[in-house]
Amino acid sequence: MSAIDGLPPLRAVIAEHGLSAKKALGQNFLLDLNLTAKIARQAGDLSGLDVLEIGPGPGGLTRGLLAEGARKVLAVEKDARCLPALAQIAEAYPGRLEVVEGDALEINPLERLTPPIAICANLPYNVGTELLVRWLTPETWPPVWSSLTLMFQREVAERICAAPGSKAYGRLAILAQWRSEARIVMSLPPEAFTPPPKISSAVVHLTALPEPRFPAPAKRLERVVAAAFNQRRKMLRAALKGLHPQIEEKLEAAGIAPTERAEQVPLERFCALARVLEEG
Ligand code: SAM
Repeated sequence: MSAIDGLPPLRAVIAEHGLSAKKALGQNFLLDLNLTAKIARQAGDLSGLDVLEIGPGPGGLTRGLLAEGARKVLAVEKDARCLPALAQIAEAYPGRLEVVEGDALEINPLERLTPPIAICANLPYNVGTELLVRWLTPETWPPVWSSLTLMFQREVAERICAAPGSKAYGRLAILAQWRSEARIVMSLPPEAFTPPPKISSAVVHLTALPEPRFPAPAKRLERVVAAAFNQRRKMLRAALKGLHPQIEEKLEAAGIAPTERAEQVPLERFCALARVLEEG
């Protein structure tokens, strides 16, 4: 059966271009085009949106994004072997796919897109977390992107969406939930990928909020949260003692008991603490 775009099935693309998966590049490909279309739909209505895709590989998700109506897709891929396969897709969707060869950790092509912008990726997990933190901590808010739809190791997805009091709650949950709405929208078993990874995966969808949920100076909040969760088993008066000589008073002024541990403190209180410490 030929696909709606007239392109060959992904297994044939991989065979034709010799795209054996490289472990060092975290290559676990999605070859089921129904599944990649479903992931693309998690990004919402793509018509009228520019999409940044990181790590298109043989292009399964890229095809999903284009078929679902993205105005333009800009795809950044580190593995030059994938470029001919991606060029075939660009031909099938004239003027709508631009491919950049490079490392997404080193280049930032967002300025080449026109808002509204959605970011979508099935990336190696370490690269995904690093990029997520960068996208969540831009110089100014709201960011240039409207939404992020990203595949993660299930455990990382749970950390992004975690509530206070849970083991998964930490820096990622706070960074993500302070200024965006984050939820797990799909779960995928290892067998969904070729080759299958050892662990399950999940797609997280984040929508940028126009304003932070609670006011706080961003850099200060990032520092407080990093220090608090660096020593998550310690009471906050000990974990944060390097931040201020009268940290107990500051914690109390923010409505936090100095004997509490970071895991128990809701986002609102961390924001209050960042504000109190900003005052000096
Ligand atoms: N999106 C494809 C799919 O769903 O089948 C491929 C997913 S595979 C998990 C990850 C892709 O990211 C690979 O194509 C890999 O070459 C690429 N990649 C890995 N590190 C990268 C980086 N730092 N910058 C850009 N692409 C990267």
